[in-house]
Order: sequence, then C-alpha cells, then structure tokens
Amino acid sequence: MKIAVLGSTGSIGVQTLDVVRECLPHARITALSGFSNIETLARQVNEFKPLACWVRDEQAAKDLAGKINVRCEILIGEAGLISCASETNADIVVNALVGRAGLKPTLAAINAGKHIALSNKETLVTAGELVTNLAREKNVRLTPIDSEHSAIWQCLDNNTPEKIILTASGGPFRGLPREKIAAATAKDALKHPNWSMGDKITIDSATLMNKGLELIEAMWLFDQPQEKIDVVVHPQSIIHSMVQYEDGSILAQMGLADMRLPILYALSSPERVKNNFARLDLLTCGDLTFEPPNTDNFPCLALARHAAQQGGTLPAVMNYINEWAVYEFLSGRISFYGISDIIEQAFGIYTIKEVKTLDDVNEAESWAGEFIRERGTP
Ligand code: NAD
Ligand code: MG
Repeated sequence: MKIAVLGSTGSIGVQTLDVVRECLPHARITALSGFSNIETLARQVNEFKPLACWVRDEQAAKDLAGKINVRCEILIGEAGLISCASETNADIVVNALVGRAGLKPTLAAINAGKHIALSNKETLVTAGELVTNLAREKNVRLTPIDSEHSAIWQCLDNNTPEKIILTASGGPFRGLPREKIAAATAKDALKHPNWSMGDKITIDSATLMNKGLELIEAMWLFDQPQEKIDVVVHPQSIIHSMVQYEDGSILAQMGLADMRLPILYALSSPERVKNNFARLDLLTCGDLTFEPPNTDNFPCLALARHAAQQGGTLPAVMNYINEWAVYEFLSGRISFYGISDIIEQAFGIYTIKEVKTLDDVNEAESWAGEFIRERGTP
C-alpha cells in the first residue's frame, strides 16, 4: 500500500503515521504535507522518506531543506499541494487537512484515480455532491476517518437504514447556562472533555457545529436525506454512532475515544488488523447515557441542519463563514455566540444556488468572503 498523507503534522496526520508505523509495516509513505510546523515535518520526512513533501512557502521550504537528510522533492503553493495529492505514486490519499484547503487536493486525487481516506469533513460540506459523484465516476473508494462515520460505515455494511443516529459528546459547555457559555473564551472552549484534536475542530465541537458538519458529511457519504439522520448527545463518547433498521434493530459501534482505530480501518478495510491499542473495558467504562442536543444554547447545530435541508450552495457558505469565525474567536476578536450570529446573518440575505460545477462553489465562497469583508469584525 502506498500512502500520501496530507496534513501530516496535525492531530490526525501524526496519528496516521503512528498507525502506519505500528500496524502497517508494508505500507510506504509517498508524500507528506505540513504547513508551518517544519520541525515535525522534517522528522517525518527523515523517518518515512517520501518522494515529495509540501510546505506553505519558499521560506518554509528553505527551512525544511536544512533539516532533512534524505532525498525528497519539496513542493510549495496550491499547485504543489495538488501535485502531492495526485502526482506521486500513492494509491491512497489520507486527507487530514483542516478546513476549505482540503477540497481541491481531494478532487485532484480522485481525478487521478486515487482512493481517499477522508478526515477533512469540510470537503464534503462544501462540495459533497461533486466529490461523491466524481468518486463514483472514477471508481475510487471514499473511506471515512471521522469516528462517527467510521462507526456508521461499519454498522451499515451496504444495508439500507431506516435512520442514522449520530452521537455527539456535547462538548465542554454541555449543560451550562447560556450566560456562562456566552462569556466563554477560546481557552475554555479548547478544553474538550474526551478528545484531543486540532484547534478548529475543538471549537467546532464546543459550538456543536462539528456535529452539524458531520450531519452533512453523513448525508453525502451514505447517500441519505438529512431527515433520516438524528443527533443524540452521548457524553461518554463510547458509542461512536448507530444505525437503525426497518425492523427497529439498532447496531452501534463502540470503542475508546482513540482516532487510531477509525484511521486504521479506513486504510485496511475490509481487513481488521490486530493491534495493541488499549481496549474498552465494559466493566469499568461506567454508565452510557443519552440526551437530546440543546439547539437553543448551541444554535450552530440548528443552522447546519437548516443548511443541510436547503442544500445547494448554502452549506459551502456556512462552512466558509464558520471557518473564518472560528479563527476570529480563537484570536479573541469575536465572542462564542459571535460565531453563530454571523452565520445566521449571512443566511438571512444569501440567495441559494444549485451546485452543478466547482465554479458554483467558488462563487458561493466569494460571496461569503465579500460578506465578511463588508461586515468586518465587530
Ligand atoms: P490540525 O489543525 O491538527 O491539523 C491540520 C493539518 O493541516 C496540519 O498538518 C496543518 O499543517 C495543515 N494545514 C492547516 N492549514 C492548512 C492550509 N491552509 N493549507 C494546507 N495545509 C494546512 O487538524 P486535525 O484536528 O488533525 O483535523 C484535520 C481534519 O480532520 C479536520 O477536517 C477535522 O475536522 C477532521 N477530524 C479531526 C479529528 C481529530 O481527532 N483531530 C477527528 C475527526 C475529524
Ligand atoms: Mg467526529
């Protein structure tokens, strides 16, 4: 198996390389990409000796060249990242990039006939129809890394569901009164109770936008309408999601909160690879509880459900504005509810279009960019 890992210096990227090192001794890494974390990327390049790697700009490329002791082509710029995804001899591309940056490399990799292990959910939120249609046309496998989607995929096994039940941890602010949540800082929101992840997804988990993005991700991955996908808060993050069948039977996939498991299965399925990861102990894991999500306190989930229901270019607009707002919140320029407020304002004035080509998505994102520039940071 030859693997390209995009976003190899991030939370999922690093864990992907752990999985390769520990469980897939015959796999070969053909390309890696970082962004600005040159130390980590240099260590990875020296260990895995890929043919090519990618960094943000010329300065980063120079810094990296001074730290590596193997032959590896260093690429930069958007074209370089696309070439990492599509032009090395990988047969599978792990997309662990964060945010909108993931879409074009995914499309390029599919066009080049490479299978995709997808962690970058924003790809499917922005252009789910284009991506899944292209994957079908090119006959490539799109396997999920997101733990919920890995769970659903394992429970579905090509059967038709009556309902998909996405589980959510509820994030660090579950059960708090609205005034407390309104005053939350980035530092508070970065303390996720169950998972250690990159900053953007950790904030998305605190607002429950992450579950909204996952709702849209599930629609495209499993070809289901939004009304057949329920969200249930399950604070222990032991059941990673469920599928209900027409006879009422519900199948669940369980495990510890360890992303290496869905990463491994995305790369090895249908084979199950023996490993020494810690096992879930049912006798000590405590009670498993379930409650409805509170969309009054976490309006991002309701906004995402609205975008899922309306479809067209609205999810792309939501995703773009959310990404911008999350980084504004992380830098302390807007409040926690500033994130949902600006998305709601955009929804109030945006005219949805159909997504027929990538140009429609680009146009929607340009509109969102202009909306942000005009409105500015309060
Ligand atoms: P992260 O921030 O830890 O890592 C992101 C990676 O992308 C890094 O290698 C970074 O250098 C690179 N990157 C950032 N901006 C870039 C840009 N503009 N262009 C090119 N490269 C860029 O993020 P993460 O937590 O690993 O998440 C990655 C993706 O996986 C996200 O879409 C996230 O929603 C999804 N995901 C993550 C987890 C998790 O446990 N971390 C779980 C499920 C899904
Ligand atoms: Mg998830």
